[in-house]
Amino acid sequence: ISACLVGSEMCIRDRCSLVCNHENQCEGHCVLGRKGAPVHFSSIENYISTTYANQMTNGPAKSNGMRVAIIGSGPAGLGAAIYGKRAGYSTLVLEKNPMSGGQVLNTCEVDNYLGLPGINGFDLGMQFREHADRLGTEFVEADVTGIKNLPDCKKVLTSAGEFTAKAVIIAAGAEHKKLGVPGEKRLAGRGISYCATCDGAFYKKKVTAVIGGGDVAVEDAIFLAGLCEKVYLIHRRDSLRAAKSLQEKLFTLPNVELVWNAAVEEITGEAFVTGVQLLDTQTKEERFVAADGIFIAVGIQPVSESFKSLVKTDEAGYICAGEDCCTSVPGIFAVGDVRTKKLRQIVTAVADGANAVNSVQEYFQTR
Ligand code: NAP
Repeated sequence: ISACLVGSEMCIRDRCSLVCNHENQCEGHCVLGRKGAPVHFSSIENYISTTYANQMTNGPAKSNGMRVAIIGSGPAGLGAAIYGKRAGYSTLVLEKNPMSGGQVLNTCEVDNYLGLPGINGFDLGMQFREHADRLGTEFVEADVTGIKNLPDCKKVLTSAGEFTAKAVIIAAGAEHKKLGVPGEKRLAGRGISYCATCDGAFYKKKVTAVIGGGDVAVEDAIFLAGLCEKVYLIHRRDSLRAAKSLQEKLFTLPNVELVWNAAVEEITGEAFVTGVQLLDTQTKEERFVAADGIFIAVGIQPVSESFKSLVKTDEAGYICAGEDCCTSVPGIFAVGDVRTKKLRQIVTAVADGANAVNSVQEYFQTR
């Protein structure tokens, strides 16, 4: 007995970081050349407990032949996938990139998801995916460009062709907002980043600046403070929007300097970022903050462009849908960060997935 313990993306995807199944190896053969190598006892324990857990869970209901297409594989999309599978639907998840996973994958620590305090965002995202995968969800890598609402079905138009389904759940999420200042576009990827957990390691012992005052900006500043010599948190007002618990943590960090009432005028640098030019909104004084890296965390915007011509959206582009996740078009549902709602959290996204499938069932009953 041996195990594939490399833990690479491929192995995580195929769940072969458990004890290797030699009869049906993920790559057809052991790409690591470890076949027959001894395996640590804990891996066998892990294998047994997971297998046992799989047997204990009620699997998906018997398929009823109805296909539901889900656009997006974040917590909302995967929540819909597991409820869909358990309701007997064939669930197809269309994701833009392999293992897109949504914003949760880039979150360092999630401390407000019930029962899993302090879990790493990547780990939580992978557990969501594993759950949906285990129930038999089909994943296809495809960039969705639109939906056709036909009398007897929906057609999802994608870069990988057209997919037909009886109902569609849009779980396309949201993406980082841009500041829209000079230098931002030109220096993106050359000192400007929108993800501290992805790129923070490039700035070890360097000086960075985070722009924004919400949960993400403060989380980013806390994360970077553990790596960088100095972190500036630059905010356009004199109080933060972020959760009080995050603020309290931030204020204890000696290498974080808050720059209040500061509007970003320009991000400077030729080949690489050199700093950020600021205007004090109160005194109208100019200030330059030198930094090796700039992390922009000024919020999110919905990924709804491809659906705007079909379903109703609000002025900010969020797809109009209530708690039942029904959009203006029967048979098309919106879940998670892409829909109009007050609180965009992992827990509310997952709850949307459940509500949407309930609405899908009601929709099928009326047809
Ligand atoms: P957010 O809460 O909307 O905060 C955006 C911040 O950027 C605000 O402080 C805003 O300033 C500032 N801002 C917006 N446009 C700006 C501009 N053009 N120039 C300068 N500053 C600008 O966004 P977020 O922090 O990305 O969070 C998004 C959602 O995810 C929120 O609902 C948040 O609660 C949630 N979230 C939750 C967790 C968690 O629960 N663990 C973690 C991360 C995020 P003002 O304050 O002046 O408006």
